[in-house]
Amino acid sequence: MHELSIAMNIIDIVEAEKAKNNAEKIQSIELEVGNLSGVVMEALKFAFDEALKSSSFNDAKIIYQEVKGIAECSACGHRFKTEDYVTPCPECMHPYSDIIQGKDMRIKSIVIE
Ligand SMILES: [Zn+2]
Repeated sequence: MHELSIAMNIIDIVEAEKAKNNAEKIQSIELEVGNLSGVVMEALKFAFDEALKSSSFNDAKIIYQEVKGIAECSACGHRFKTEDYVTPCPECMHPYSDIIQGKDMRIKSIVIE
C-alpha cells in the first residue's frame, strides 16, 4: 500500500527530529497533502493510525491539510484551480499547463514538547 509507506517514511523523519532535539514528546504533526499528489487522504489517515502505533509518539495529534491544485497555462500564463492534470486553460483553451501547487505532500510542521 502506497499510503502506508508514505506514513512510515514520515514517522521515520519525525523520530529523527525527536531524537535530534532530545524531545520527550511530539505534540502534533501537520501535513500538507496536495490533491494532485496521488495520495488518498482517507487511506493516508488510516495508514497513519496504524503506523503511529509502532512509533514513540502514538499520542501525537496529526493535522491534515488539503492543498488545492493550481495550474499555470503554458501559453497565456493564466493560473487556475484544477483537480487533475488534463484540464485545458479556461482562458485560452490551451491544453498544456504546469502544475504549480498541489503536486506534493509534505510535513508542514512538527510541534515538539
Ligand atoms: Zn491559457
